[in-house]
Amino acid sequence: MVANSSRESALELLLRQELFGRGLRFRKHLQVIRGLRCTPDLVFTRRRVAIFVDGCFWHRCPLHGTDPAANGDWWRRKLDANVARDRRNDAALTAAGWTVLRYWEHTPVSEMADDVQRVLTRLSEEAE
Ligand SMILES: [Zn+2]
Repeated sequence: MVANSSRESALELLLRQELFGRGLRFRKHLQVIRGLRCTPDLVFTRRRVAIFVDGCFWHRCPLHGTDPAANGDWWRRKLDANVARDRRNDAALTAAGWTVLRYWEHTPVSEMADDVQRVLTRLSEEAE
């Protein structure tokens, strides 16, 4: 299990509100591949875009990721396992035709939303 910090969840909510305000409609926490324990934070089903907001600590952000000194080995294994699972999920989603977007929790929500819009627009144009 990856424990979500409350900040991560609050950010997901802000991103959803921002995207909704821009007229975008999406699903949340949907299991997109049967049998794969992977539920992206936001999903655009028609255009097959899976979005994750990754916590800097839990997913080892290069800027803010840290290894706690106490129980260091345990934390290192846990965080390494999180990152390894992220990459496995990315690979499985990509192989199934999904576009995976991941944002660090330190990214401003408006930047995340701009990027999502850009990607959705590009995918729509490619589909025509
Ligand atoms: Zn960070």
